[in-house]
Amino acid sequence: MSKTDLMRAIRDEILILKESPLYNYRTENKYFPVIGEGSHDAKIMFVGEAPGRNEAKTGRPFCGAAGKVLDTLLEHAGLPRKDVYITNIVKDRPPENRDPLAGEIEIYGPFLDRQIEIIQPKVIATLGRYAMTYIMKKFDLELELEPIGKAHGKSLPAKASYGGIEIAILYHPCMAVYNPNNIEMLKKDFGMLRKYV
Ligand code: URA
Repeated sequence: MSKTDLMRAIRDEILILKESPLYNYRTENKYFPVIGEGSHDAKIMFVGEAPGRNEAKTGRPFCGAAGKVLDTLLEHAGLPRKDVYITNIVKDRPPENRDPLAGEIEIYGPFLDRQIEIIQPKVIATLGRYAMTYIMKKFDLELELEPIGKAHGKSLPAKASYGGIEIAILYHPCMAVYNPNNIEMLKKDFGMLRKYV
């Protein structure tokens, strides 16, 4: 199966994922699941938290206010959006943009795991503390977990099934939506991705 076919299979499974606690909320609101977007051969994969309203309405990740910030940061790092892959841990919108619940991360996490195996990125850039925690635990780095205020801007080597990778820990772009002054700090952190371009 091609990478596109494997991704389509993930989409098709999520579309009918009635076991998800977010399934009814999606269908009642005529929302879309947000699977991910970008190059299936990306060297860098960005992992966010969960879709917001704009994302659930369009089916595209990071297309609202946080997405605008992400676009600025990608440009700053010299990364064309089409060359990276952008996704989230949770593929359906939690009500009122609340934080994802453990059960939601548990049900959608395996889909993210499969996406990582399909794309086989050299760098997984985590956006925010939920993605940081999920990815670090997944790659057996739980003991090295720090609060994101300390961990942001660092990158850690890890071992994926397909070879060595780097985990780049980044703040969530919404940091600069709530407080535009944070953009400089985010730019500095995203600057570390330049060495992978
Ligand atoms: N925030 C996220 O974590 N993901 C999105 O796709 C949009 C906003």
